[in-house]
Amino acid sequence: MQIRLAADLQKDSIVDGEGVRAVLWTQGCGHHCPGCQNPSTWDFDKGMLVDVEDVLLAIDELEGQNGITFSGGDPVYQAKECAVIAKYAKSIGLNVWCYTGFLYEDMLKTEDRREFLKYIDVLVDGKFILAERSLSLYFKGSRNQRVIDVPKSLAENKVCLVEKYKDPITYEPPKRREEHIYI
Ligand code: SF4
Repeated sequence: MQIRLAADLQKDSIVDGEGVRAVLWTQGCGHHCPGCQNPSTWDFDKGMLVDVEDVLLAIDELEGQNGITFSGGDPVYQAKECAVIAKYAKSIGLNVWCYTGFLYEDMLKTEDRREFLKYIDVLVDGKFILAERSLSLYFKGSRNQRVIDVPKSLAENKVCLVEKYKDPITYEPPKRREEHIYI
């Protein structure tokens, strides 16, 4: 089995989900969101075909990573291959995040997507919408996207967001230093 990737497995990302993470950049995306940061990953014929077995070996060699994030491109176009990789990542104790332009509800529509979903801890779903863009959001680019707690959503049969990432980031202005009186 082979998967089409845009790049080698990246290590030490701190922006693609919680903690320090490896990132698997898949190649191919049909959503074509205006303002997408990775348009070079849209073409389904570009990138490189890699044996899934080799990806598993690369994951085995990871050190100091809290988890692995599937990004792209849109990993869901290769749900079958990603499911195999995500299952393995979970089995060695990595948590799994996935970014997709599809909706959570779309993930329930095919067997391959449902299989992939079983091994995802957090799904950031929905297209990037430029008019909804904000820099004050946790782990997502536009307000319409959702940071979804997948195990909870599957258990409760409804979309459940990750509580701590629900609200926009708020910045506390630094407190003024008290004036000191020297005598
Ligand atoms: S879904 Fe993601 S990779 Fe695909 S076009 Fe939209 S922002 Fe870009």
